[in-house]
Amino acid sequence: MLPVIALVGRPNVGKSTLFNYLTRSREALVADIPGLTRDRQYGRIQHGMRPCLVVDTGGIADDAEGIESISRKQVQIALNEANLVVFMVDAREGISASDKVIADSLRKLGKPILLVTNKVDGIDAPTATAEFHSLALGEPILLAASHGRGVPALLEKINQLLPSAAELIDDEGARKGIGIAVIGRPNVGKSTLVNRILGEERVIVFDQPGTTRDSVYIPFEREGKQFTLIDTAGMRRRSRIAETIEKFSVIKALQAIDKAHVVIYLIDASEGVTDQDAHLLGLVLEAGRTLIIGLNKWDGLTTEQKDKVKRQIELKLPFVDFAEKHPISALHGSGVGKLFDVVHSLFESAMVNLSTSTLNRILKEATDAHQPPMVQNRRIKLKYAHQGGRNPPVIIVHGVQTEALPLSYHRYLTNYFRERLQLAGTPLRLEFKTTA
Ligand code: GDP
Ligand code: GDP
Repeated sequence: MLPVIALVGRPNVGKSTLFNYLTRSREALVADIPGLTRDRQYGRIQHGMRPCLVVDTGGIADDAEGIESISRKQVQIALNEANLVVFMVDAREGISASDKVIADSLRKLGKPILLVTNKVDGIDAPTATAEFHSLALGEPILLAASHGRGVPALLEKINQLLPSAAELIDDEGARKGIGIAVIGRPNVGKSTLVNRILGEERVIVFDQPGTTRDSVYIPFEREGKQFTLIDTAGMRRRSRIAETIEKFSVIKALQAIDKAHVVIYLIDASEGVTDQDAHLLGLVLEAGRTLIIGLNKWDGLTTEQKDKVKRQIELKLPFVDFAEKHPISALHGSGVGKLFDVVHSLFESAMVNLSTSTLNRILKEATDAHQPPMVQNRRIKLKYAHQGGRNPPVIIVHGVQTEALPLSYHRYLTNYFRERLQLAGTPLRLEFKTTA
């Protein structure tokens, strides 16, 4: 599973500045997707090392939704699930009483802690940071997050302290065929759906030797096809007991999304689309996963309620317009079979091999039909394209002045490719490169 780094510290020490710096590569991606806002709390970092999740616990604490009790729980969960804590203090303000309180509570976690003294730009760092030795958390790392100074040293330390891939519990060998993650807010019916799928007559669940009922990977076969359910939240074990808000973990959801090929995202249609749905779906999209939206609890809804949910989806979730939406009832089983037929075709979309000649033909068609605009009296030229990745499919387009390409044209081209390639349910990505 993806290792987790928690950023902790008093307000204003610079946590979100560091978080933004570390997760910067996402900004461009998010800007290209209408309606999607950048997540300020959970991010993925790579920086030439093993990918990991970084969680700004301060960002969670002042959650825009203002549901303080949930937020505080999410901070606790983040700390419990963290493999490493980065504790940030303000070198300019010096050590404060709350720094000491935080340090004491962090120590009790028994996890590796990295002490980081931020804002060392323009001050005499050794003198200013000397007093932080009294926290007894080792030699502080000197950082100026807003300038990126000290970040390479921090990353190197992080890399040393994170558990190696082998140490993290992960029986990835058990993942066979198409990986499916069922994601959604507490009580939307994830557990009900998982147990219904695995309990179906047509399904053979393989009990792996050496794995327990708590296993993260649950391989099964349905109509001759192999799938693996990725169950980081123990949904299979749980019958009847609904997930409590206290136990719901965004981190576990993110880890499952990371391991999946296809994400089934459940919305409780009887409640409608909530802000948390938009938030979680944004994270699915950022991970680039192929997506099906299950509108669960469709049973017993009035026509009015059904129309309302459909309207809400258009208004609140424009950024997942590529995803198919399926009304289902996990409880009664209606619509669940269809969901599976879709999973298979979506997987094929996500893993598609696109021939360079096809891509170039489509690029020519698209640019002939609608030319890229002029920038400073020079036309942006898009010359040729090739595939740059799978799951999600990435198309790399080479040209001249591509950095000036307006978002609207980017969208036009993405939609053109999507339609011509008939890619269902997968977030196709276009990247542009200027070649001399
Ligand atoms: P958070 O509340 O811990 O997330 O803190 P922020 O990241 O919002 O930063 C608080 C303030 O400190 C902002 O005005 C930042 O611009 C500033 N800041 C952050 N990092 C640095 C730094 O390395 N040097 C200086 N001088 N200011 C910084
Ligand atoms: P989870 O927290 O997302 O795993 O949700 P659960 O699977 O525990 O379901 C929460 C509640 O919703 C339980 O009381 C379920 O019986 C109920 N539920 C789940 N699916 C459906 C459905 O399709 N229709 C109806 N009416 N209730 C459902």
